[in-house]
Amino acid sequence: MREQLEQLVQLQEIDNQLLELKEERGNLPETVEKLRAEIEETTHLLDVRREELLNAGKERRRIEGEVEKAKVSLKKYQGQLFKVSTNREYDAITTEIEAAKSIISDGESQIIHLMGQEEELTETVQNLESHSETIKSDFETHDAELQEKIAETSDFEAKLREKRVTIVDELAKPIYAHYERIHMAKEDGMGVAQVFNGACGGCFAAIPPQKLMEVSTMSDFILCETCGRILVDPETIQMN
Ligand SMILES: [Zn+2]
Repeated sequence: MREQLEQLVQLQEIDNQLLELKEERGNLPETVEKLRAEIEETTHLLDVRREELLNAGKERRRIEGEVEKAKVSLKKYQGQLFKVSTNREYDAITTEIEAAKSIISDGESQIIHLMGQEEELTETVQNLESHSETIKSDFETHDAELQEKIAETSDFEAKLREKRVTIVDELAKPIYAHYERIHMAKEDGMGVAQVFNGACGGCFAAIPPQKLMEVSTMSDFILCETCGRILVDPETIQMN
């Protein structure tokens, strides 16, 4: 049991160092991830808006073509109107003229509407492009900083992780599982606590004398009743 407790203390020290490395990197990893996601989202939005702009332009040119055709027809029918000899012919041509006029007036108002849409979309695309430039350069700056920090510490971190694996292999599974649970749950990452002035060094709850005795002999695996941390005796196991 003493060996297991010593291994646990070593595990805790490794985890403390890993936590320190993580703190050194601060919120850079989150910032980089957020920026990466924002770039993706903006790029997607830009694609959508550019497509809409393209389609509005296509639709406007199609309608402009129809209006042009209707104008040509209108001229033709208006010319024919003076040459008709029957009422029936007159009515037929008048109907054609009305139809052409309606195509022209509907088309023109659609063109105006589409031009407004195109103007708005052009502005949106420009804004998105400039926003995209800003976040891309932001991302590059933060990512470079993060990569540098990772490069500085990656060898050390790899060694710590290697050592961690060796220790975990030697620990009894239920003991490691308990440690890991508390380690992950506590903000300070401490799954092991030293006894300090008869109290748990993690949560400062007083420990009953009988338990204190058991902790000092290190013959058993003793947990703090309040926080669940594994208690060790600082006299027998030194922690940094
Ligand atoms: Zn405690």
